[in-house]
Amino acid sequence: MSAIAAGLSAILARIRAASPERSVTLVAVSKTHSAEAVAQALAAGQRVFGENRVQEAKAKFPDLRGGYPDLELHLIGPLQTNKVRDAIALFDVIETVDRPKLARALADEMERTGRRPRILIQVNTGREAQKAGVDPDQLDAMVAICRNEYKLPLAGLMCIPPAEDDPAPHFRLLADMARRHGLDVISMGMSGDFETAITEGATHVRVGSAIFGHRV
Ligand SMILES: *Cc1c(COP(=O)(O)O)cnc(C)c1O
Repeated sequence: MSAIAAGLSAILARIRAASPERSVTLVAVSKTHSAEAVAQALAAGQRVFGENRVQEAKAKFPDLRGGYPDLELHLIGPLQTNKVRDAIALFDVIETVDRPKLARALADEMERTGRRPRILIQVNTGREAQKAGVDPDQLDAMVAICRNEYKLPLAGLMCIPPAEDDPAPHFRLLADMARRHGLDVISMGMSGDFETAITEGATHVRVGSAIFGHRV
């Protein structure tokens, strides 16, 4: 068994142990790792992947998709409006929608191409000045813009808690906000805290280094 296959099966076992009553989707975060590493994860049965840069994903994934039509690719990093065309072409889920201008650009490109990847709104639960994401106080307005004004396929919410905080209250806040808006997808938790995220209601966890090793 490859190291990646072993890492995957260990993480999947931990996910199952943390969520015996429901299924949680593992988004395997392959940023900075090679197409060969992704191919090993695919061979081991993993189908859902996360990348944080459009250009990097564009270089790696189109070739891999050929053999795996059920591969599902998530964008988990910031999206500039000038990359929207590539992002819509490449990704099945865009997790980082965080401003009306981006929502509009996505809606325009969906209209133009007919391709409609699901979107999540990223919420800046820690209200960090440097971090992407909608301020929690602006979430209701952003949900209304995505749903009513631009008719986007809004599926859920995503967050990255401040590194120095206990993540649990951030996860709880995100799950509460998702329930309040009737949103099914709750993307939260990384290598260091995905079990806590599952306890707090994550439907998707984004795990990179615990599967692929340290980033190169
Ligand atoms: C890199 C990254 C992850 C995975 O982080 P690990 O600590 O390697 O598991 C998850 N989410 C986002 C948004 C990331 O950028």
